[in-house]
Amino acid sequence: MDSETEYSEGKTKKVLVNSYERNPIARKKCIEHFGLNCQVCNFNFEEKFGDLGKEFIHVHHKVDIATIGNEYSVNPLTDLIPVCPNCHSMLHKKKPAYSIEELKIIMK
Ligand SMILES: [Zn+2]
Ligand SMILES: [Zn+2]
Repeated sequence: MDSETEYSEGKTKKVLVNSYERNPIARKKCIEHFGLNCQVCNFNFEEKFGDLGKEFIHVHHKVDIATIGNEYSVNPLTDLIPVCPNCHSMLHKKKPAYSIEELKIIMK
């Protein structure tokens, strides 16, 4: 899958989410540790959307997927980070992805 192709599509919900980011156990552990706020912009879905936004957040995998092998095991506390879909899209504007710190600096 090519992330740039996915980005060119605005109509459907097509933010790049790799298999590590979809792993429910790793995701849960990451959220337990960091909470449900976006770690870039601090957005909280439940705060804005009430029940609808409950437990909603993307989990970003900080290591570029192309640089690691298939059997790579994820450390949810060091490799994953909760971000909102907007920030997640921005992180993946570059390959390899921007770091959380870089994006915070870019963000106004
Ligand atoms: Zn955000
Ligand atoms: Zn990501």
